[in-house]
Amino acid sequence: MRPRRARTALILPFLTLCLAHAPARATPPEPSAPAEAADSSPAERVLVVRRGDTLAGLLGSAGIDAAAAHAAVAALASLYRPSALRPGDEVAIRLSAGESPDLLEIEVEPQPGRTVRALRQPDGTWRAAETIAPRSRFLVRAEGTVDGGLFPAMTKAGIPPGLALSLIRILGHQVDFQRDLQPGDRFSILFDRYRDSDGDILGHGQVLQATLTLSGRALAVWRHKDRGGSADWYDSDGRTLRRSFLRTPLDGARVSSGFGMRSHPVLGFNRMHQGIDFAAPTGTPVYAAADGIVVTAKREGGYGLMVRLRHAGGTETRYAHLSRFGRGITTGRRVRQGDVIGAVGSTGMSTGPHLHYEVIAQGRAVNPSRHVQPATRLAGAELNAYRTRQRVLERIAANLRTQEEVAMAPD
Ligand SMILES: [Zn+2]
Repeated sequence: MRPRRARTALILPFLTLCLAHAPARATPPEPSAPAEAADSSPAERVLVVRRGDTLAGLLGSAGIDAAAAHAAVAALASLYRPSALRPGDEVAIRLSAGESPDLLEIEVEPQPGRTVRALRQPDGTWRAAETIAPRSRFLVRAEGTVDGGLFPAMTKAGIPPGLALSLIRILGHQVDFQRDLQPGDRFSILFDRYRDSDGDILGHGQVLQATLTLSGRALAVWRHKDRGGSADWYDSDGRTLRRSFLRTPLDGARVSSGFGMRSHPVLGFNRMHQGIDFAAPTGTPVYAAADGIVVTAKREGGYGLMVRLRHAGGTETRYAHLSRFGRGITTGRRVRQGDVIGAVGSTGMSTGPHLHYEVIAQGRAVNPSRHVQPATRLAGAELNAYRTRQRVLERIAANLRTQEEVAMAPD
């Protein structure tokens, strides 16, 4: 029995065939149908989930008695949420031989490499068990050249989209993408990949290191787990990146109006522009610039829909003209840097979709592109461990061509 999650089209016709034959099981197979011979032995079958199926319903339509199906699903539920079932997922079942077969086992694979099953015990009760396939860890290097956006260049280079996004957010501490990123800039990234014993990819871990060459300037960031076990991002000298505020709290935006005096586009006279405007399409996600707490998320006159966050040290950030608030963004809610707090819009006094972003420090509006919290730096034995790890990863990176992998010790 080997269920898989939404597998290739190659095996689906076969599985559909099994299902199509299922109702015929009660009658003796036609002599002219040798393909059904396998069905006469203690049966293992794979059921394919279709839209609207529940696990119990799927078992019922396969002819399993409702009480047995219920008991099996209830046992499985201790390790697996049956509502997580999606069309195309597969459920393997094992039945006893005989005229009216009993359900003996059901098995699902919620994630690649993790199998969960419910087994009928001799006394008729059910027990759940899970198997985690042994996985091997590899380090992959991917490099590429920027030609337009950084995100498309990274995914084109073979970096999984989720890893590319989180890396871009981290790099946002060091890089003003609007100013620093040029076509022809290069990047090289090391990240974890997991494979099962057949060599199939089970998934990806984390980016461990990224090097960028921006307009000739080299920049490197490192993910490092300290001896307390908490992982964070550091620059080449071991300074934390996370302490600083995001320079640009959204992706793919350009500055449409900087900080300082300007002629107001709507009011038409000169006044102080207390923040930075980023032009971006309506609906573009807006991120919390740093860890903090939601002060308010409400409509505020000319600001339209606005979120205010309070951060360590009393600094407040404001995000105005939003089209909507992020899920769960209400007063008192704790947010992590990079959490989506809303989406770009044009509510309030605004001439088009943009984010108006303000930073208030010690009660005064300050230039967001200049505002940084003091960073902390690794020291002593921790810094030595970091230096050693940097040397190891640098040596590995130097010896890997792009898309090449090297086996690593498990993490
Ligand atoms: Zn503005």
